Amino acid sequence: MIKENVSLKNHNTFGIDVKTKFLVEIFSEDELLKKLKSRIKGPFRVLGSGSNILLTKNYDGHTIIMKNKGIEVQEQTKKEVLIKVGAGEVWHDLVLWALKNDYSGIENLALIPGSVGAAPIQNIGAYGVELSSVFKSCRALEISSLKFKNYEKESCKFKYRSSIFKEELKGKVIITSVCFLLRKKPHKINVSYGELQKLMIGKENTIQNVAAEVISIRKSKLPDPEKIGNGGSFFKNPIVTQKKLLALKKEFPEIPYYKESKNHFKLPAGWLIEKIGYKGKRKGDAGIHKKQALVLVNYGGAKGLEILALAEEVKEKIFNFYGLRLDFEVNLL
Ligand SMILES: Cc1cc2nc3c(=O)[nH]c(=O)nc-3n(C[C@H](O)[C@H](O)[C@H](O)COP(=O)(O)OP(=O)(O)OC[C@H]3O[C@@H](n4cnc5c(N)ncnc54)[C@H](O)[C@@H]3O)c2cc1C
Repeated sequence: MIKENVSLKNHNTFGIDVKTKFLVEIFSEDELLKKLKSRIKGPFRVLGSGSNILLTKNYDGHTIIMKNKGIEVQEQTKKEVLIKVGAGEVWHDLVLWALKNDYSGIENLALIPGSVGAAPIQNIGAYGVELSSVFKSCRALEISSLKFKNYEKESCKFKYRSSIFKEELKGKVIITSVCFLLRKKPHKINVSYGELQKLMIGKENTIQNVAAEVISIRKSKLPDPEKIGNGGSFFKNPIVTQKKLLALKKEFPEIPYYKESKNHFKLPAGWLIEKIGYKGKRKGDAGIHKKQALVLVNYGGAKGLEILALAEEVKEKIFNFYGLRLDFEVNLL
């Protein structure tokens, strides 16, 4: 069904109240193709659960939401299982399904909001694990040709919070399903993330325990969008060369950093923002979270442009203070 003049307030975790001219929920690949061939004229865009977007204006076109569900086992060996998951599945429901079946690989990604179809877009990651480690391929409709194509892992150019779908193919394909390769027992558990490692001391190394600890860390650290509008980390952690890191360390000896590759280091953007005094800052209903400086929040009635203005201000201050460019992790729409 196509609905007209719909508020997107309940379709984005920031809770921004803008409208779309048309809202189309799609439940199958066939329906997607048919609607695009016959019913959808003019501009359109795709949304999942709206947990990685900042809506800044009304949209004079069709907003498509993929709702096709289903988790199918395609193949399995003694060690692994290959599953195909509909783009409209809720990511955390997939994690719960994997835990129930005792398949490992995504337990560290528990409780990340959003849909399965959007998960490859920014190569979701948390607590030492990225989606790319279990991603096999995805199927997507190429908008220019209206043909379905498979994208194997090697072609997806996964990197930190990015992929080909967030760059070259942004807005050019609609992901309809994703295939994952999960492991059976014995599991390889990843507790490389310091806080998780500590919490696992004295506990049995099961994927269910890892997920439970990840969930408890997330609940204690990140604001719940049901209670306060937000889009998770607003900025990516900047990656700098060793030369830049050494220069920064001279000025800020206490600066935390993590090795990313031989000559590249990741700096926690939350720390950088806190240091310039922006943690907890509020401008009208737009703010920076009191406990987590990486998260911008909507205290109720903020407009997307007000949140964007605050984000731009942070970017400018960070550049002036450290000579570092922060990139947005959220997508501006
Ligand atoms: C509280 C909170 C915590 C978070 N924690 C994390 C975290 O730990 N790690 C992490 O990586 N992310 C995190 N995020 C960000 C977010 O959950 C992920 O990026 C998630 O994958 C977004 O899914 P979505 O369905 O909400 O996508 P949306 O926000 O709806 O869309 C995101 C982008 O993907 C595009 N898109 C969506 N679906 C499709 C599709 N089927 N085909 C093509 N394009 C599509 C949209 O056009 C948009 O550009 C967090 C967000 C919140 C609010």
